[in-house]
Amino acid sequence: MNTCLAVDLGGTKLAAALVRGGEIIEKHQVETLSSNNPDVLKIALHDLLLPLSSGADVVAVASTGIINNGILTALNPDNLGGLDQFPIQSAIADITGLPTQVINDAQAAAWAEFHAYEAQYANLAFITVSTGVGAGLVLDGKLVTGSRGIAGHAGHVLADPSGPRCGCGRNGCVEAIASGSAIGRAGVPFFGESTTGKDVYSHFLAGDKKAIAIVERSASTIAQLVADLTISLDLDAVVIGGSVGLAENYLSTVKDALSLLPKVYQPTLLPALSGADAGLIGVSLWADTKTK
Ligand SMILES: [Zn+2]
Repeated sequence: MNTCLAVDLGGTKLAAALVRGGEIIEKHQVETLSSNNPDVLKIALHDLLLPLSSGADVVAVASTGIINNGILTALNPDNLGGLDQFPIQSAIADITGLPTQVINDAQAAAWAEFHAYEAQYANLAFITVSTGVGAGLVLDGKLVTGSRGIAGHAGHVLADPSGPRCGCGRNGCVEAIASGSAIGRAGVPFFGESTTGKDVYSHFLAGDKKAIAIVERSASTIAQLVADLTISLDLDAVVIGGSVGLAENYLSTVKDALSLLPKVYQPTLLPALSGADAGLIGVSLWADTKTK
């Protein structure tokens, strides 16, 4: 069995772990430095990966953004600290001297959840509601990455044509209404200029009517996305994760909104099980399937 050096490149953290058969053996993590200088990221990757690479046979990377032919881009480059067109695959292969594969982090997390639920649901979507809204698709028991690495970017489907402008440049995407950042922005008129999504969520849990309306709008937008994906792809289950998705009462609020729709739109709705290591575990399991 291969030992995989799994890497998770997120908007706020850079994590690396040696993973064998889905179990993490050793893990290191640093904060992602927000810089549009590619050399800053290269140095951070070098310092993090070099000590671990001697124990690994392959490298598998789960990264925020779109991975097309080993090049990292984003629908919203602000999510990468302004970094655009970063050659992530060759940069990491140069550091480690190992075969290196890269996929999107929500795609990797979808694969982790498919395994966490013991492959019971052959047609599954994973939706993470966090700073942004990401998603990954498993169809017929296979992870779908897409020919350009874009498959599953369901945070950018239309939720409301008159909704706020999304970071991708389109108006009214799910992400612009349902994400943690969007929840924070919607709270500014009621709770002050520096309001965050977390602040609004605390008000929601405390029973504040304005905050309830904002969080319920997020949850019903996610419920409609669940319904759209289910009717498009004939899904068995949808797994909800992320800091907002797993926050107290969020999933039940999504369930309440979904229960108002006809049965055909209602898949089994489940909480994510893999936690903060979903990207690392998912991408290592995916690399295992590629090297078998
Ligand atoms: Zn968008």
